[in-house]
Amino acid sequence: METTMTFEYAPAPESRAIVTIKPKYGHFIGGKFVAGGKHFPTINPATEEVLSQIALAGKADVDAAVKAARKAYTNTWSKMSGKERGKYLYRIARIMQERAREFAVLETLDNGKPIRESRDTDIPLAAAHFFYHAGWADKLEYAGLGTSPKPLGVAGQIIPWNFPLLMLAWKVAPALAAGNTVVLKPAESTPLTALLFAEVCQQAELPAGVVNIVTGDGSTGALIVNHQGIDKIAFTGSTEVGKIIARAVAPTNKSVTLELGGKAANIVFDDAPIDETVEGIVNGIFFNQGHVCCAGSRLLLQENVAEEVLHKLKNRMEKIRVGDPMDKNTDVGAINSKEQLAKIIELAAVGDSEGAERWSPACNLPSKGFWFAPTIFTGVTQAHRIAREEIFGPVLSVLTFRTPAEAIEKANNTPFGLSAGIWSEKGSRTLWASQQLRAGVIWANTFNKFDPTSPFGGYKESGWGREGGRHGLAAYLKGVSHE
Ligand code: NDP
Repeated sequence: METTMTFEYAPAPESRAIVTIKPKYGHFIGGKFVAGGKHFPTINPATEEVLSQIALAGKADVDAAVKAARKAYTNTWSKMSGKERGKYLYRIARIMQERAREFAVLETLDNGKPIRESRDTDIPLAAAHFFYHAGWADKLEYAGLGTSPKPLGVAGQIIPWNFPLLMLAWKVAPALAAGNTVVLKPAESTPLTALLFAEVCQQAELPAGVVNIVTGDGSTGALIVNHQGIDKIAFTGSTEVGKIIARAVAPTNKSVTLELGGKAANIVFDDAPIDETVEGIVNGIFFNQGHVCCAGSRLLLQENVAEEVLHKLKNRMEKIRVGDPMDKNTDVGAINSKEQLAKIIELAAVGDSEGAERWSPACNLPSKGFWFAPTIFTGVTQAHRIAREEIFGPVLSVLTFRTPAEAIEKANNTPFGLSAGIWSEKGSRTLWASQQLRAGVIWANTFNKFDPTSPFGGYKESGWGREGGRHGLAAYLKGVSHE
């Protein structure tokens, strides 16, 4: 008789003693924290505890930030040699590493993502972006982007809540390396690590005004987008807001990069290594609660292995640990906000009503906070909304295909084009498929791998331009095409 023994995990809570959260924050303008007018709360989505009161920037605050950024650009940063700029970026990178645990704990408290992910992914990658771009600061003329590349001026940067510090690093590091100054707005629900980053700028003695951080909501973002003193807009967020921004900057001289939504196909061919593939599927959709623009949210299974993959996937999902993000054993944490949870619940209900079959493992979700169990929908067709729209949560839509050509056709049948995954042991098939797929990033036998040296960005409604690598640098320099 076969017997199995299971051992319960003991709680392994990370301490929050390392962070000091002030009861109230202002904006970071011209190298100093300045008091804000109106405030709004930022909460821990795992407990609904109010963490702090955050300032809501209005026109006067955004004006002051742009003025400080312009002054720093004209008088200091654009005149400084690349070598000197690089020293500041290295210093920031090192301080981020030294304060990594503080950043990780704060990110997890404000965002709801598991400490394991903020500690092992978000914060090390954010520091890596500063290290990588520090290296470019004095080598811009050798980057193949012209003999004398020039910065654009003041960059307005608007970031989302899914990877708060990492998205800040993606925006701030290349801008500064290329000689620009910045006004950055973190997302309404996750401003705390950006405010800690402001302290790091002070600690690194970065010249006043090179980095300015204003907090607020969408109205603050719109003030930045429409500000006449700004030369470039860099945005990551929803396709809906991306379209508003594209329209707003169209009649102006502003440069723009947009990193928007996705509905990535993760394609499993019948010769794929099934056990590794199952890990990749789980990582592709349940990493960061599925709040990932490049998430592998559409699983395309070749029909003759579909049953086996689904059986193993369900077994694996039974072992996913959902719960307290501060517990070091947690795999899936809290949904970032009440609004996002409502959107996930609504789209999942549409999946039910359109006839797809829902499955989730049994899991005890905490009574407070915002939670959604890891979920898969089978029997999904191209016509279903859950196959076409970004759910931005831990929900996987599963489709099947018979031939490689059908897989490509289904994968490309989307308004998005951010990322895709291919699982196959055959190199020629992988190369063939990657050439047919219309997506900015294609992973083979892996998923959700990020590196500062590698350009990231999408086709179609997934955005304009690239971030990371040489291509990402080009987006902060004058007259250089970055497509
Ligand atoms: P948004 O696109 O609204 O938010 C992204 C950033 O833009 C935030 O800082 C936001 O501010 C700001 N913003 C909002 N409205 C405007 C505006 N009119 N002009 C300028 N900036 C603005 O995304 P949401 O947070 O509302 O999420 C909605 C959906 O977007 C999600 O369900 C998901 O599908 C998708 N999404 C995709 C992301 C991606 O990486 N591709 C990231 C985040 C969301 P504030 O937070 O203060 O509202």
